[in-house]
Amino acid sequence: FVKSSVIEGTQHEEDSDQEDIDEKDMLKRELQDERKTLPIYKFRDELLKAVEEYQVIVIVGETGSGKTTQIPQYLHEAGYTAKGKVACTQPRRVAAMSVAARVSQEMGVKLGHEVGYSIRFEDCTSEKTLIKYMTDGMLLREFLGEPDLASYSVVMVDEAHERTLSTDILFGLVKDISRFRPDLKLLISSATLDAEKFSDYFDSAPIFKIPGRRYPVEVHYTKAPEADYIDAAIVTVLQIHVTQPPGDILVFLTGQEEIETIDEILKHRTRGLGTKIAELLICPIYANLPTELQAKIFEPTPEGARKVVLATNIAETSLTIDGIKYVVDPGFCKIKSYNPRTGMESLLINPISKASANQRAGRSGRTGPGKCFRLYTSYNYMHDLEDNTVPEIQRTNLANVVLTLKSLGIHDLVNFDFMDPPPSEALLKALEQLFALSALNSRGELTKTGRRMAEFPLDPMLSKMIVASEKYKCSDEVISIASMLSVGNSIFYRPKDKQVYNTWKETDYSTQWCYENYIQVRSMKRARDIRDQLEGLLERVEIEISSNASDLDAIKKAITSGKNGSYRTVKNPQTVLPRWVIYHELVLTTKEYMRQVTELKPDWLVEIAPHYYQLKDVDDTGTKKLPKGQGRAAL
Ligand code: ADP
Ligand code: MG
Repeated sequence: FVKSSVIEGTQHEEDSDQEDIDEKDMLKRELQDERKTLPIYKFRDELLKAVEEYQVIVIVGETGSGKTTQIPQYLHEAGYTAKGKVACTQPRRVAAMSVAARVSQEMGVKLGHEVGYSIRFEDCTSEKTLIKYMTDGMLLREFLGEPDLASYSVVMVDEAHERTLSTDILFGLVKDISRFRPDLKLLISSATLDAEKFSDYFDSAPIFKIPGRRYPVEVHYTKAPEADYIDAAIVTVLQIHVTQPPGDILVFLTGQEEIETIDEILKHRTRGLGTKIAELLICPIYANLPTELQAKIFEPTPEGARKVVLATNIAETSLTIDGIKYVVDPGFCKIKSYNPRTGMESLLINPISKASANQRAGRSGRTGPGKCFRLYTSYNYMHDLEDNTVPEIQRTNLANVVLTLKSLGIHDLVNFDFMDPPPSEALLKALEQLFALSALNSRGELTKTGRRMAEFPLDPMLSKMIVASEKYKCSDEVISIASMLSVGNSIFYRPKDKQVYNTWKETDYSTQWCYENYIQVRSMKRARDIRDQLEGLLERVEIEISSNASDLDAIKKAITSGKNGSYRTVKNPQTVLPRWVIYHELVLTTKEYMRQVTELKPDWLVEIAPHYYQLKDVDDTGTKKLPKGQGRAAL
């Protein structure tokens, strides 16, 4: 490594001696004392005064300064919760859960009572709830039931710099309701200094800056580019562990698989280090990690040991782990991108932006001077990294958002007040997809089907499949399929067949059966929870539960109803079977892979969506072309 720059700290403070408190035995009073040591505490009264004076405020503060955990409590203490709930949105599920757990501890209340959280398919709130942490997507859905958010007195759109799709849409919606709800307070909080843009968007809202506590961070680069960043990360962690003074390590990785690989290799390699070297505790953190294990990263490191946290981007700004002195940054993250022409969405490993790299480095300088090891060259940093990540709204499929906005009665999407508008091509494609699914009519208006679809917190293709199951009398099977698909890839090591859910049910939801079949009990239970909720929603849209397990074609037709244009031409169609398939996901890794596949008959497409497919589109003898639907869906 070459040491080539130092990011200067902004402020040095003496009160950072809170590290070695055993959180487990910490009494509420001690937590209360700890709250007072956070950088935001000094600005508590000033902040509350600003909230009183202005309707909208942009708040900027270094990660870890206490924005997420403290501001909602300050508002509660100042009496805002007497007028309505305080909402605080998070782009990530894990962050919403973890922060809610922390705040309930600080307030000495049971999680789900005064302080709760709400994430998709999991509502941990009650009548009593005053402070509600939630994913930005959940608040977006709450607009459907309560378009003026009447039950809230304050909405804090947190982690605004992340610019997720839901956050960007929320911006437009909360800005709109703030005009006719002068009593509603809006806080837009962000970890980056790029606050002017938020302020401009919210009609020159004042910016409240919380000076951070930040120590200098030494940044080291590799001399030459690394061929294998996984290997380089492992070597760097071991080098830090063997040569550097005490302090925990944070490694940024792109996803669960990478984290598991490194976890395993590190365990293996440290076994051979002997007793002279301190113990290395390995703590993974990613979205699908069981909640019990997530809490582990916050446990103080035992005396004489060193902790290495293997994290996804979640540790960049959403979560703050105390005690980190070293950051290892390979410089990559998974980024979703979307090609509106083909309708293909992919999740690929990409270089991070300069803004991300600096956030990551900053994580090592929170409690004392830190070091950041970048596994790329300073030339790479200077010349290859973009300044900022492109907002999600400009690189994603918009079908879901368009359906939500249409159900909120927002018809004119082109003139929606976007902070950064999506490409018009992507907007058109979304309208076309919704038209193909019969969610919109040819004038672009929401149909009855579309209205029913919007009730389900699912991708429009899955909600259409459920709505269509009514006709084929197989809603029972179809919601099982939808819930299994919603749990993602964590059920099967290799997709076996769709019977998994029912077989598990026959064993009376047996844990043993899951072990025997290498199936994750947790994922199955989650599927069951989701299924229960979907069953409830069926009732709401008045679809009867009916089972048609013997008629596979009926089920497949329902599935087909939820798809459009998602088939591929094969080079040599005569020799490959099946000729026509439907897939749930297209994953681009080394090649393009279809995941969760079933066969269909092409004439079903014409039967199911005659407004979109014609026989000649699905003519099996000639070369197949993707059907054209352009121009039929109106804006
Ligand atoms: P910000 O939102 O400004 O980044 P936070 O409010 O998230 O800051 O964090 C403030 C402090 O609370 C940090 O020191 C962090 O370590 C602590 N904290 C946050 N969540 C947890 C948790 N789940 N367990 C333990 N400590 C936490
Ligand atoms: Mg935060």
